[in-house]
Amino acid sequence: MNVRNLYSDYFGVNHKLLELANSVELILSDYFREIDKIRDVNQLKVISAMQKNRLSDIHFNPSTGYGYGDIGREKLDNIYADVFNAEAAFVRQQIASGTHAIALSLFACLRPGDEILSVTGKPYDTLDDVIGINGKSDNGSLADYGVSYKQVEMRADGGIDIDMACKMISKDTKVAYFQKSKGYTARPALSNAAIEKAVKKLKTVKNDLIVVLDNCYGEFVETSEPVEYGVDLMAGSLIKNPGGGIATSGGYIAGRADLIEKAAYRFIAPGIGLEIGSNPVGCRHILQGLFLAPHIVAESLKGSLFCAVIMDRLNFKAEPAYNEKRYDIIQSVEFNDPENIILFCRGIQKAAAVDSYVTPEPWAMPGYDCEVIMAAGGFIQGSSIELSADAPLRPPYIAYMQGGLVYLHAKLGVLLALQEMINKGKVVL
Ligand SMILES: *Cc1c(COP(=O)(O)O)cnc(C)c1O
Repeated sequence: MNVRNLYSDYFGVNHKLLELANSVELILSDYFREIDKIRDVNQLKVISAMQKNRLSDIHFNPSTGYGYGDIGREKLDNIYADVFNAEAAFVRQQIASGTHAIALSLFACLRPGDEILSVTGKPYDTLDDVIGINGKSDNGSLADYGVSYKQVEMRADGGIDIDMACKMISKDTKVAYFQKSKGYTARPALSNAAIEKAVKKLKTVKNDLIVVLDNCYGEFVETSEPVEYGVDLMAGSLIKNPGGGIATSGGYIAGRADLIEKAAYRFIAPGIGLEIGSNPVGCRHILQGLFLAPHIVAESLKGSLFCAVIMDRLNFKAEPAYNEKRYDIIQSVEFNDPENIILFCRGIQKAAAVDSYVTPEPWAMPGYDCEVIMAAGGFIQGSSIELSADAPLRPPYIAYMQGGLVYLHAKLGVLLALQEMINKGKVVL
């Protein structure tokens, strides 16, 4: 048995496609080296933060009840703060998702009469109801509490419209909101340099502005994080990059210590924040996931690069292109054809270690204005640092692929996706 036989006999990848994959990999090595350099900085940062905080076996012990004096929880918070170079951080298994972490950050900073200004266009879909973008709804949104909302559209070239953002700041603007990742939009992800430039300018207009940033999918893609560039609070999900595919659930918030305390008050209760919260299963999984995260993010970026090059060879528009810098882990491919995005997602699903026999179907997912098809065969439900793909069924029919704990797995996913298209005569080699 060799690799070639396994690809062809077990997975059904034809020889021409394998040859194409081999030629694609030849040009990837230089790009892989760049990814490795970033990975190495982040890996050493994580190890040094764990050493500096004297992480030890006893910190993996579970706690119960109020969780007073849970030294594992404290270690975890301090290690995250050090890795991200933040004044403080709080990391909890009970933060249920990225949206939950971002919502906590916003509610921590905003009070009735305040205004939030989204500087990077419309936020990720799940934030609509948190902010109350469509007005009051009696669901406890920021709008219900009298917080108003405005947004600055991204420039046509995908950059931040800093001049417009500065003009739109009013005396009530308390929070400037940023999203680093492209999410499921057509604009590129933002570099920390671009974020810093905008933050500096905005703070010259209003120096007490609080900058909150959605960091989902952004962690460890660069050698530093947005809180090092004037961002006051950033939040993300542990079933994405920083959980390393090991954390079974959770979220984090990192940034200014006074704001972290307010976020913890919002999470537990005013006056009771960081001091309580037990971990009945301990935090080993979160710490071990953080240890692996720089490596795992690098693996997933390599998978995205493979996808970008091979799709480009086949004349599909891949964004980012393989020779562009990456600031999040999302790879999009434009198919201009509904059948192709369905085939693509089905191929990705076929590569999964879990639920590979399931056939994804488009469905009317809440929060979307059209049907969506998703491929997700993960060890952890909904984990998108594991190989996954989503595609809303609307023109120009773009599929978004991300994750892959192992480069080879993402590569296999892309090959099986293409093989699906080849089998249906949609791609001819
Ligand atoms: C995943 C994600 C979120 C939050 O999503 P959850 O499903 O709530 O974890 C927010 N913003 C962006 C850009 C994301 O990618």
